[in-house]
Amino acid sequence: QTFPECPLDRQQLGRNSWSVLHTIAAYYPEKPTVDQQKDMVKFMALFTKFYPCEDCSEDFKERLTANPPATQSNTKLAQWLCKMHNEVNVKLGKPEFDCKFVDQRWRNGWEDGSCD
Ligand code: FAD
Repeated sequence: QTFPECPLDRQQLGRNSWSVLHTIAAYYPEKPTVDQQKDMVKFMALFTKFYPCEDCSEDFKERLTANPPATQSNTKLAQWLCKMHNEVNVKLGKPEFDCKFVDQRWRNGWEDGSCD
């Protein structure tokens, strides 16, 4: 029996959104232009503003104000986002991710070849 596809619940929306955000950060330029840096700040603010989970959106907006996106380089942005995601993990009682593995998780694949 096949079931119809359903709207995303909060967990699915979160998982899919983090996938998009971390993958965008993983492919952000190492040497962004001033315009790219400004656009990334706007993108994060607008993504958060329209994020369709009200308390997540309110909460993340405050986090963005306290800790604005580090847009100076690919490495800085990927590490910043990892830190932000870890803040949400802590709030939700989830384990923290070791940010030194962020490139393997979201761009290069694991060094043991498990994604090949
Ligand atoms: P997720 O947290 O969705 O993570 C998905 C995958 O990302 C993990 O399997 C892991 O491989 C990887 N990962 C985990 N941590 C990191 C990290 N620090 N850096 C890089 N990769 C990592 N839910 C709420 O209930 N309340 C909220 O206030 C809330 N705020 C949110 C704010 C935003 C901006 C987003 C995108 C989501 C938010 N969510 C919130 C959803 C929540 O964070 C989770 O996405 C959801 O609970 C599903 O969790 P999960 O266990 O599948 O893993």
